[in-house]
Amino acid sequence: SEPETLLEVSNVEVIYNHVILVLKGVSLTVPRGGITALLGGNGAGKTTTLKAISNLLHSERGEVTKGAIRYRGEPVAKLNPAALVKKGVIQVMEGRHCFEHLTIEENLLTGAYTRSSKTETAAELEKVYAYFPRLKERRKSQAGYTSGGEQQMCAIGRALMSRPEMILLDEPSMGLAPQLVEEIFGIVKGLNENEGVSFLLAEQNTNVALRFAHYGYILESGRVVMDGPAASLRENPDVKEFYLGMS
Ligand code: ATP
Repeated sequence: SEPETLLEVSNVEVIYNHVILVLKGVSLTVPRGGITALLGGNGAGKTTTLKAISNLLHSERGEVTKGAIRYRGEPVAKLNPAALVKKGVIQVMEGRHCFEHLTIEENLLTGAYTRSSKTETAAELEKVYAYFPRLKERRKSQAGYTSGGEQQMCAIGRALMSRPEMILLDEPSMGLAPQLVEEIFGIVKGLNENEGVSFLLAEQNTNVALRFAHYGYILESGRVVMDGPAASLRENPDVKEFYLGMS
């Protein structure tokens, strides 16, 4: 049987500052249990797509002017980000966004705001540490003094504290050494397989994204120009030539 569709983006158009048309009718779906990659170069519209889903465009003077976004069949375009978190969807923004003056552990605890029970919070924290042993080692360190990789882990760990069903992950590989990128994607895969977390991840690093994702969409200038199972995209001659850097 077909897997359940968790997230459905249909024909979404986004305009910035009332005039700049950036998304020109983007459609995509993420099934329950899926890792779906949103690929494309700089400025293709990946971040804009994620922000349209989590309703984070207002502060950028952007708005969804057409189309629909549904989560488990329910329209979510008008929900604020906190309400979306309650529904199980959380975004990890590009650039890590940890609170620099808080310790790693304090940062993680800020992610538990949907939880009232202390025992549940403690259990969730231990789970995060089980996936990210480095964060446990660094739990007393001020986040601003930890490495880029540790801050990326901290951002994902904080999102996990809300026990999400789906994470919108923006450019997790950005600025990280290849070995750390592998480590982070390995953890994403573990969370997907063992905890059932679904992912929509925006990545410029097509190579690594298509090794870990199940399905991919390629965006160019605000349109989906190609989509398919990750394995077939990896073998596609155009993808190889333009996105995998080996013709
Ligand atoms: P990147 O990897 O650089 O984040 P991206 O694929 O995520 O690329 P977006 O950040 O979604 O791309 O940007 C898509 C287009 O929208 C770009 O041309 C960008 O200049 C434009 N854009 C983004 N934010 C705004 C804004 N606040 N106002 C006007 N134009 C914007």
